[in-house]
Amino acid sequence: MTIEEKTGKTLAELAVSDAQGVESLFAEVRAAMEVGRQNLVARGASTEKEREQMCKALRDRWLARKNGLLAQIDEYWLKPAARELKPAVGRQFNALRQAAAWLEVPALLDDVPLKRDATVEVKGVSLEASVGQVTASSIRDLHDLTLPGYRRPVGSLHPVTRMQREIEEVFLNLGYGIEEGPEIESVYYNFDALNIPETHPSRDDWDTLYIDSKTLLRTHTSPVQIRAMKKYGAPLYIIIPGKCYRHDNPDSSHSPMFHQIEGLAIDKDITFADLKGTLDFFAKKLFGEKIRTRFQPSFFPFTEPSGEVAINCTLCDGQGCPVCKESGWVEVMGCGMVHPEVLRNGGVDPAKYSGWAFGLGVDRYALMKYGINDIQLLFQSDVRFLEQF
Ligand SMILES: [Zn+2]
Repeated sequence: MTIEEKTGKTLAELAVSDAQGVESLFAEVRAAMEVGRQNLVARGASTEKEREQMCKALRDRWLARKNGLLAQIDEYWLKPAARELKPAVGRQFNALRQAAAWLEVPALLDDVPLKRDATVEVKGVSLEASVGQVTASSIRDLHDLTLPGYRRPVGSLHPVTRMQREIEEVFLNLGYGIEEGPEIESVYYNFDALNIPETHPSRDDWDTLYIDSKTLLRTHTSPVQIRAMKKYGAPLYIIIPGKCYRHDNPDSSHSPMFHQIEGLAIDKDITFADLKGTLDFFAKKLFGEKIRTRFQPSFFPFTEPSGEVAINCTLCDGQGCPVCKESGWVEVMGCGMVHPEVLRNGGVDPAKYSGWAFGLGVDRYALMKYGINDIQLLFQSDVRFLEQF
């Protein structure tokens, strides 16, 4: 049965009764369409008038409003299709209509060569264009280009990466640079240079993953503060994103590997007001203009004075809920004025310069932002989870 004959019968008459049958029937149609086009392209035309006539004839065979093959398919296959087959037929018909755009006359005119132009001059050498040599058998040998291709899944950015970039964006717009440092760090940079005394509990084997007595997996991104000060001197405005490691058992809010972003601003006359202003601006940029920030005193060995920043809980709007432990506030980062000893260790004169710094956990921001209740989900590489982002 020719395609013309087939498109003049209903699906019931063609004994097509399931989606698979519909698919293969349409595949046959697409193949016939492509062969028709390829034959025309292979044959070429000897005059422009002939070319136009040939293209129009092919176009009309398929696309003419009355009696074109697509109109027939609409009339005999789609309209009377059984209810359960209709979605499949509709889908296939739409795809076919899209593919048929190649049969419009302007597209065909572009593809069909004029034979008298088949001899072209390239750098003075006359070349016979191969158009005229394409034969029916070489067309048959072509792969069927109308078959659907392999669909390769497109990846997306990990929620932590997205969160990190969003935070970076705020500070990049403020003129800060991005600095990175090694994850395998010396005890000196990780602790000593940051004014963390030998007796500090964070130095304990139970909190820090040591490689040997002098090297460890960095427990925070702060060592890069010292490295950057030594490298660039003052003034300095940077943020430091990266992975950190602690001797933590994995649970819903802890992971032995986590992501931090550290910020550091060093210049003349930097005060706590700069710290407050910048971090309040940052919180509003990230969580919305209505966010309020709260600064509370705290203690870190590398800043003096030190503080903790909280924002009003976005879930309960400050009314109190389980997430904010009924307080109405969620702590989002630690901060403080850089300790003079730390400046000195970075080679910056604390009599001339002052600075402020902050540190935040990117993973927890991602949990807040995307409403995730378990940090472990971020690191299990489960595609079903990750493809939601
Ligand atoms: Zn709350």
